[in-house]
Amino acid sequence: FGERSQTIQKLHCHSCGTMYSTDRYVENHLYCTCGGFIRPSVVLFGESLDPHMLAAAEKETKQSDLFIVLGSSLVVSPANSFPMIAKEHGARVVIINHDPTPLDSIADAVINNRNIGEVLRLITEELSLN
Ligand SMILES: [Zn+2]
Repeated sequence: FGERSQTIQKLHCHSCGTMYSTDRYVENHLYCTCGGFIRPSVVLFGESLDPHMLAAAEKETKQSDLFIVLGSSLVVSPANSFPMIAKEHGARVVIINHDPTPLDSIADAVINNRNIGEVLRLITEELSLN
């Protein structure tokens, strides 16, 4: 998705848009030099989604072989439509969430009650990517 890519690994200033690495949070520097709050580059609860981003996400979803849901209750639209779209286009769906979700029945695998970071670390180890 290029520059507009959403990632939890990046932060940006809510006021001026300056990008920061997550080291900024680790060092507990939560404010930009302009005084704006530095936030994760993902959509937070209650925020509206960019229509271009949605279209791009839908395209990626349709092309995916494996669709992994990380920490979503899957009760909020439109986020909860993506696992269905993925499934309909032949992807395997894995849901990793603290609690069961309404879409667990369509998932190929469901992981509840596990720390997401820990699960991802184990997957990465398994794939020998680290
Ligand atoms: Zn700023």
